[in-house]
Parts: sequence; structure tokens; C-alpha cells
Amino acid sequence: MKGEDLVVQLRQRVRDHIFQEITRSLCPECRRVIDAQVLVRKGAVYLRKHCPEHGWHEALVSSDAGWYLASLKYNKPGAIPFTFATEVERGCPFDCGLCPEHQQHTCLSLIEITSRCNLACTTCFADAGAGFDLSVDQVEKMLDRLIEAEGRPEVVQISGGEPTLHPQLMDILAAVRARNILHVMLNSNGVRLADDPEFVRRLARHGPTIYLQFDGLSARAHRELRGRDLRAVKQRALDNIAEAGLTAVLVATVVQGVNEGEIGDILRFGLEHPAVTGVSYQPATFAGRCLNGHDPLNRATVTGVLHALESQTQGLFRVSDFLPVPCPHPTCCASTYAYVEGKQVTPVTRLLNVDDYLDFITDRTVPDLSEEIRPALEALWSLAAVPGTEKATNNLTCVACNINIPLPANVEALRRSFFMVHVHGFMDEHTFDVKRLMKCCIHELLPDGRTVPFCAYNNLGIREQVKRQESASR
Ligand code: SF4
Ligand code: SF4
Ligand code: SF4
Repeated sequence: MKGEDLVVQLRQRVRDHIFQEITRSLCPECRRVIDAQVLVRKGAVYLRKHCPEHGWHEALVSSDAGWYLASLKYNKPGAIPFTFATEVERGCPFDCGLCPEHQQHTCLSLIEITSRCNLACTTCFADAGAGFDLSVDQVEKMLDRLIEAEGRPEVVQISGGEPTLHPQLMDILAAVRARNILHVMLNSNGVRLADDPEFVRRLARHGPTIYLQFDGLSARAHRELRGRDLRAVKQRALDNIAEAGLTAVLVATVVQGVNEGEIGDILRFGLEHPAVTGVSYQPATFAGRCLNGHDPLNRATVTGVLHALESQTQGLFRVSDFLPVPCPHPTCCASTYAYVEGKQVTPVTRLLNVDDYLDFITDRTVPDLSEEIRPALEALWSLAAVPGTEKATNNLTCVACNINIPLPANVEALRRSFFMVHVHGFMDEHTFDVKRLMKCCIHELLPDGRTVPFCAYNNLGIREQVKRQESASR
């Protein structure tokens, strides 16, 4: 055998991926907790895992490995709640929660006050339909436990099902307002808000920010995701919200092959409607009713949305305008803010090197840092930040003043001078990653006194457990 033939014969094959780390995930077939490898392949990030019963599974986690890996430097130390509801016994994720090993306090608490809904969306990860309403007394007990754990909670989000169907919604909002809680948000599909302007005026007395489901401007997006064309409904809902003096964040579920081409249009629509102070994009999570017919290797991701924003807004927002949010695990979501003056939209990241202030790992000290800017930016790049609220407006005003941006003096005009764009990649059984779960700061409050990370609630059978218990007790 010639020398060069020998070299060819001895050359070892090289793997098609770079191994990054090991974590724990779920088998998408039986939901048992199994080890998972985080791999980089052709510029994207994948979770690869093996179930002893159901074999190998792989899922796309991020379409941009560069973003994913660079985001890790935005991690920051978590705050410790005053109380925990469970002990460490079996290890994460079996001790939820919160157990003392959880790595972050609650930035945003969710309460699902009803499992009923007036729509039947195919993409409903809550699997809402018929079901139960929580009593006001139950909600009050949950709020009181939250206050024990958090002292002064920042944000409570009232959710469902469709919470506007709850007959005592106003009493529940009043119960939140009566406590030491900074802000309340209300999730809604907008159907009742569109049809009942008097109801929206009554809501306005409690001042919630409306998180309005809004998946696009085409009839197809609505029909495929929600079962009917809701474009006129969303428009009327937003007009009623504006008329009542409330503000809204558009919440877009992004499904690959359905509405990923409308990401830019949704943003432009939001910038133009007077009620809208931000857009939150959520790549679809395959849970609840949204389980079938989706390919875990070809799906919407946080980075996919960021790149679509850049291309579909012709650079109005660029990928480089976004930073990971450091309070949960930094691969979970990304945000940015812009100053808006008429048609002029300027992301704050083009005026200030926000990166210098939010890099908690290398903790670079910027010599000419204003003492005020870092806390303001930290509060803005947080899951407790709600655009349009007094707190977010004050923080953005503080940043603007420090970099000499002229702002209107009128309070209402000032509030509308800022716009938030957020992208949140909730996990499902394919992308479930225990290291992200342990740092989660969006927590579901349960009627039994526990507080569990939202991605645990969606993927570990906890929502189903609550539904069974609540339905049986009625
Ligand atoms: S997710 Fe948090 S609360 Fe739940 S078991 Fe893990 S560490 Fe404990
Ligand atoms: S996704 Fe929202 S609006 Fe649609 S069925 Fe579920 S709870 Fe109702
Ligand atoms: S809800 Fe899920 S995706 Fe969001 S911060 Fe928590 S673990 Fe991360």
C-alpha cells in the first residue's frame, strides 16, 4: 500500500457538529426527563436526546449559534424570594416549586383565572375550552402568597383561557390593585374588547395593560392559527382600548410556514396604532392543542424572528439592536426599545452602547457611566418591564436625558415616545432545557399555593393536574 493511501485509510471521520454541553430535557413521546446534548451544527443550535424507550430525538433551539453563544454573557445573578413553597427532594424539575434551588425570583406572575374561551384556536397551548373559573377568594389567596414570597411584586398578568369571560374579572383586578403590586396586565384575544366598549371603559378603571393576541394582517394567518378571520375584531378591540385610555402590547404567535412573513407588517401596524406601546413575538410552542403536524427541526425561533425583523422592516430594526434579557436564562428572550418621533423610529441601541451596561459576566466598568443609566437599563431589559407604564416611561426618560434626546413635556405624548419589541421563545417538550427552567422568572401561581415556572406548567402536566382538580371540585 502506498503511503498516501495509508493516510486516507487512517483519517478519522469528523462529527458533523460541535458538542457544547449536556443538560436535561424531556422525551417528546413519554415526557420522561432525559439527558440532552446541546450541539452546534451549520450555524444553528440543536438539542439531541435519547429516551431508553423511544430512541433519539433532535430539535432546533436557535437558528443562529453565534447569537445563542454570545447571549450567555448577559446572564446575571438571581434574586432570592423571601419564602419557598416546596423542599428539594427529587431534584429539578420534580420539586416545583418554587423550591430553594430555583435561581431567580418572580419577575412576572401569571394567574389563569379561567380555562374557558370563546375561541378554539388550533395553536392553543393552554388547550382552553370548557372548564372552570377560579373564585375571587382563591385568587386573593394566591396574591397574598405572592406578596409573602416577593414583598412588592412587580407585575401580575391575568390570563386564561379568555379572562374577559370571567364573571368577576373586575373584582379580581380590584383585588390586584388593592395590594402592593406595581402593575397588572390582562391577556386577551380581543373578542369581548371589540364587541363591548362599555366593558373596556370599566376595565380602564383598573388600568391594566392589554396583552392582545395579534398574529398578522392576512386572513390566512388568522384562519390557520385562530380558526376564523379576526382582523376586524382586532382593529375594533384596539380602537376601544385607545378610546378608553388604555394601552396594548400586540402578542404575535409565529408559526413557520404560516405567518413568519408577516413579522415586519405586525411591527409597522403596532407603530401606527395609538393604543400600541410594543410588540411581543412568541415562536409557537408545541404544547396543549398545538402538538400535531409541526416539525421540531423546522420551526420559528427567537433568532429567526430577529432576522425576519431586520429583513422585513428594511433595517428599521436590526438583529444588533436586540439584547438578550438577563433576568431569566439569556437564551430565553431578547428585547429592544426605540424612541419614536412621528415617522422617525430610532432603536436606543443606536444611540447608546447598551451592551456595556448589561454584560454581567465580564462586568466591564465603563468609566464615564452615569450612575443612573445602568439601573434604568437593567429595569428595561427585564421581564418585569411593561411598555407604556409609568415605570418603563421613567426609565426610558432617564436614559434619553443622559444621552440628550429631546422629549415631549406632555405626559401622554411622552408615554407614546417609546416602543418595545420583545421576542420570547417559550419551551415545549422538544426544546425543554432544565438549565433554562431553573432560571425562569415568569411564574404561574397555582391554587394549591405553589408557584411554578411557566415552561414547567406547560410541559410537565401541571396545567392538566390543576384543570382536573379545579373541575372536580365544582
Ligand atoms: S424549576 Fe426551579 S422550582 Fe422547579 S424544581 Fe427546578 S429549581 Fe425547583
Ligand atoms: S389561544 Fe387563547 S384565544 Fe385561542 S383558544 Fe387558547 S386561550 Fe382561547
Ligand atoms: S417561561 Fe420558559 S422561556 Fe420564558 S423565561 Fe421561563 S423558562 Fe425561559
